[in-house]
Amino acid sequence: MLPHTALRPPPACPSPDIGPGAASGLEWRRENHLMNTPSNPSPTAARDLPIIIGCGINGLAVSRSLSRQRIAHRLIGTPVPLQRPCLGESMDAVCTLDLEKNFSDGKAAYFQKADLDFHIQGTKTNCNFNFQGSPGLRKYFKTLGLKPLPGLYHVDRIGFDDHVFTQTVASQYCQHLDGRVADITVANDTVQALELDNGQRFEPRFVFDCSNHAAVLPRAMGLKPKTFGKPQRVAFTHYRLDNPDQNAHAHWRLATSLVRTEPDQDQISGFGWVIPIGDHVSLGVSVNDEDPTDLTDEQILEHFALACRKRGVPLVDHAKQVAPTRCIRNTHFAHDKVHGANWVLSGPTACQVWFSTGTAVGFATFAAALAPQLMKRSRRAQNLYQQYITSLRGSHDVITAMREDTLTPADMTRFTNKIYVGNGIRMGLYAQAIGNPLRTRIAQLLTRMTPWIGRNTDFCNTPVPSPADTPAPAASAEENLGTPSQAVLSSS
Ligand SMILES: Cc1cc2nc3c(=O)[nH]c(=O)nc-3n(C[C@H](O)[C@H](O)[C@H](O)COP(=O)(O)OP(=O)(O)OC[C@H]3O[C@@H](n4cnc5c(N)ncnc54)[C@H](O)[C@@H]3O)c2cc1C
Repeated sequence: MLPHTALRPPPACPSPDIGPGAASGLEWRRENHLMNTPSNPSPTAARDLPIIIGCGINGLAVSRSLSRQRIAHRLIGTPVPLQRPCLGESMDAVCTLDLEKNFSDGKAAYFQKADLDFHIQGTKTNCNFNFQGSPGLRKYFKTLGLKPLPGLYHVDRIGFDDHVFTQTVASQYCQHLDGRVADITVANDTVQALELDNGQRFEPRFVFDCSNHAAVLPRAMGLKPKTFGKPQRVAFTHYRLDNPDQNAHAHWRLATSLVRTEPDQDQISGFGWVIPIGDHVSLGVSVNDEDPTDLTDEQILEHFALACRKRGVPLVDHAKQVAPTRCIRNTHFAHDKVHGANWVLSGPTACQVWFSTGTAVGFATFAAALAPQLMKRSRRAQNLYQQYITSLRGSHDVITAMREDTLTPADMTRFTNKIYVGNGIRMGLYAQAIGNPLRTRIAQLLTRMTPWIGRNTDFCNTPVPSPADTPAPAASAEENLGTPSQAVLSSS
């Protein structure tokens, strides 16, 4: 079980001597540490174990992938057991498939999402994820060599990440070092050496940068990402359902709801989510950080919760906020150069787009699936990786339009079709990353044909008027909650 709140402290570091080859290069060679470029860099083949920087979900996924291939490696970072809500709870098809395949130990944290509903400009567009139930999509999955899914996952990251960390570092191929990379020596597109804050120094044969926004390698190498869109301010929290069994089958309890808010009706111009995870519900909204506003993060979330209620997602009538409101600021970006002679910017370290575009955790698991091949500098793997990033960028633009443009129902149909096609392409790339040669060839053909196959198909239901304002809560609920706005503000 992975209870929502019962968290263990991170385990002590395993012995540094575990794993084949782990003894080599462990000695502390401070006297050799040079900030300057070494004049005669050693060939990477003769170097020390590969290193993964960062043990968030991305670094853990890469570590698991290397361990499965019996590749000894070092995983560097301090795990922070999640006691509070974090972003990254709604998964796409690639991620769901990979979680089932490679993270089956985390099952207790998975919750089925049957649908995605877009509530945009007075309409609701419903997209169903029962791929098993559609003969065409079932065939698509099977041809790719993938299991047709009955739905996608929401993941309760509280407890999950901690559990996954413990399981991942238990591998004999993983040597976890608790610490931070403090210094990096780079020459000729090659990471020559890497020093931790405790002075340990390594000359890794390959480096996977999974440091996310910390951008450890890009900073060391002077790589600047291209940023796009406006900087975002994201406020988010968790609610707990008063009675999880009540309304257990209500549509919004089994769906990701994505809601665009309008300043004239909702007081904020934003785009946010409602993600049910068991007896909790994640709620969050992005607003343009540059828009002038006096609203606090709590007030932004309060307006968002009420906007959801107006659209038939009455979270505030059935749940209370149980976690403090958190806020992050982020900007979307992509690096042009995502790999080099002995390094790769893995998953969300390479590119970050709107969260509903394809998911960042999905990108992390895709990057992890390719990790052993990227280490060998396989051209094929590098191409697949680049294609995935290109596809994410395309889907990102669709979400930007959904967020900013004046849309007709026909636009929503067109855009949701594009999102499905983008996801189909990414599933095809994932199938190529994990498949045997024959399967890979078939998947390659199908991936190329996907835009054409999807051209004449409407994947989601025709947009309908968004449900009218939800009736006022029953007296008992009112007694419990006060007004919805009080419920939000008093507990934050
Ligand atoms: C609004 C919003 C909503 C989102 N929703 C979703 C969603 O629904 N689904 C989804 O899949 N994704 C979503 N995401 C994205 C997702 O939350 C993140 O991209 C993902 O969780 C990042 O995981 P990670 O392992 O790459 O990074 P992190 O969890 O940030 O881990 C990086 C690790 O690197 C470590 N590190 C940093 N510097 C160093 C150093 N010098 N040495 C050693 N270690 C270092 C850090 O301490 C950290 O532990 C969302 C993002 C946003 C902004």
